[in-house]
Amino acid sequence: MKICRFCRGTSVLCQSCLKNVREGKTTQLEVDVARALHSVDPEADYESVTDGSRIVITAKKGAASKIIGKGGRGVKKMEDALKRKVKILEVTDDRKKMAEDMLMVPVIGVNVLYDGKEKLRLRVSRRYASRVSRGSLDSLSRIYGKDLDIVYE
Ligand SMILES: [Zn+2]
Repeated sequence: MKICRFCRGTSVLCQSCLKNVREGKTTQLEVDVARALHSVDPEADYESVTDGSRIVITAKKGAASKIIGKGGRGVKKMEDALKRKVKILEVTDDRKKMAEDMLMVPVIGVNVLYDGKEKLRLRVSRRYASRVSRGSLDSLSRIYGKDLDIVYE
């Protein structure tokens, strides 16, 4: 859960945000990310934070490009503050576009499979297989909120 606007600009947490951290509804990473983001752009807002091989921050169209900044300056600033690699991912209903943005390779398609529950299968050309990292796939799966596998064809 995100911390409130007030807490993003200060180094202390209000009673309500503190309660969420204590109850585990807000992670320390979310607190750190919200504050790092505030230092880049106090107006910028994000949707979610996913921890993995990189910190993946999702943001709405427009907000994402604002956070990334000119020549990736915003991302660099956040990486310096968080001392971790950061990826800003634009949220869209287009799963293929999000997958391409996350994996940085062309995606042929995203299929929805039903195997008791809904899961997703990414189809990617074999030639890009070596460029797809497990960590990015895991993060993508958590962002979609669904099991995800990948086939190379
Ligand atoms: Zn607060």
